[in-house]
Amino acid sequence: MTNNFDVIVIGAGIAGASVAAHLAETKRVLILEMEDRPGFHTTGRSAATFEPNYGPPPILAFTRVSNGFFVNPPPGFADGPLLAPRSSLFFESEGQEIFTEKLLESGLGLEELSEAQALKHFSVLRKGYAKRTFLDPHTGDLDVDLLHRGYLRLFKSRSGQLLTNAAAETIEHVGKNWRITTPQGIFESEILVNAAGAWGDVVAAIAGVNPVGLQPKRRSIGVIPVDGIPGVGDFPLVTDMGETWYAKPQSGKLMVSSADATPVDPHDAYADDMAIAEGIERLMNATTIEVSRFDHSWGGLRTFAPDGSPVVGFDPHTDGFLWLVGQGGYGIQSAPALSRTAAAMVLGEKPPQDVMEAGLLLGNILPERLNNL
Ligand SMILES: Cc1cc2nc3c(=O)[nH]c(=O)nc-3n(C[C@H](O)[C@H](O)[C@H](O)COP(=O)(O)OP(=O)(O)OC[C@H]3O[C@@H](n4cnc5c(N)ncnc54)[C@H](O)[C@@H]3O)c2cc1C
Repeated sequence: MTNNFDVIVIGAGIAGASVAAHLAETKRVLILEMEDRPGFHTTGRSAATFEPNYGPPPILAFTRVSNGFFVNPPPGFADGPLLAPRSSLFFESEGQEIFTEKLLESGLGLEELSEAQALKHFSVLRKGYAKRTFLDPHTGDLDVDLLHRGYLRLFKSRSGQLLTNAAAETIEHVGKNWRITTPQGIFESEILVNAAGAWGDVVAAIAGVNPVGLQPKRRSIGVIPVDGIPGVGDFPLVTDMGETWYAKPQSGKLMVSSADATPVDPHDAYADDMAIAEGIERLMNATTIEVSRFDHSWGGLRTFAPDGSPVVGFDPHTDGFLWLVGQGGYGIQSAPALSRTAAAMVLGEKPPQDVMEAGLLLGNILPERLNNL
């Protein structure tokens, strides 16, 4: 295998796979992944939801533009639908008026429902729990695996090369090139894309680049059996306005979370059973569902920059080092448009017009907005 590339991408999650697929159209691209398979960390652990009203302003723009890709991907990209419609219900419980106001400020296409209407969508809602209820009919379930594999297949079809078990251990800037040492060999490229997820600041530090202040936050999800409740598979995603719990159907059961966001160091995340128990308690408080156990669970890391928006762009102080990190809890739903934007930056092109028209302000994603840079 040749050791010189135009671009090396560190990380084969959804961020790395999607930007690499775009770049491989015109560039020689290598993805380095430290695990033995792509998608092992956050990408493989999401709740797989598409919610165009969820996230900070840049994410809203990326997600809304990405909808077109999910509904109508390029021919041959995926052998099944990427997005299946599933509406969402937002319940304002006691004291959550402020969150309703916030949602309504930026939310598009929301419909307020009476309690009787809400019960038609979600028969197990406990009467009196929700002061107000809003329906978002434009949300859905994403097939994350299909999306991720689609980008990796596109990447390979464009002669991109992926190496697993290839942690970037040392990263040096030698002349104009980055030289990266891995257990699989030494590789060089003029441009390095840091798509290392929770390890984004760790990779920067290895490369001698100032960190941007990323904070991985653990979230835990439990799957509960809900025998004897008809129509569970058709339930909407349900959550409260303050995001203190959410639930949605998964293979005839319900996945539940207390929407925990515990700051942790980057690691192979596992579920926090106490956090799941809290989620179940809040679900039982909001509904007539009785839960005595959960079947299985998982944990994952949602990684945030200090201001909650993604960090996308060349480092202002280091040549050829592009950040593509900090996608928080929205990195799947935003990936198609976010990766096109990042690829345009690598290629020195203008950002995609559709993303700008959707309201993206570049200053909200560039790394130099963060104080420590
Ligand atoms: C519980 C949970 C629920 C979520 N729900 C949703 C949702 O409903 N919708 C949504 O859009 N998003 C959701 N997210 C967020 C979404 O999953 C992430 O934003 C997205 O997966 C981040 O992708 P990534 O490629 O940046 O990170 P990752 O998938 O973690 O990929 C980074 C990769 O970099 C590799 N790496 C790190 N260091 C090195 C190194 N030194 N050398 C080589 N490789 C390295 C890692 O092994 C990893 O594979 C959720 C996340 C969690 C945890």
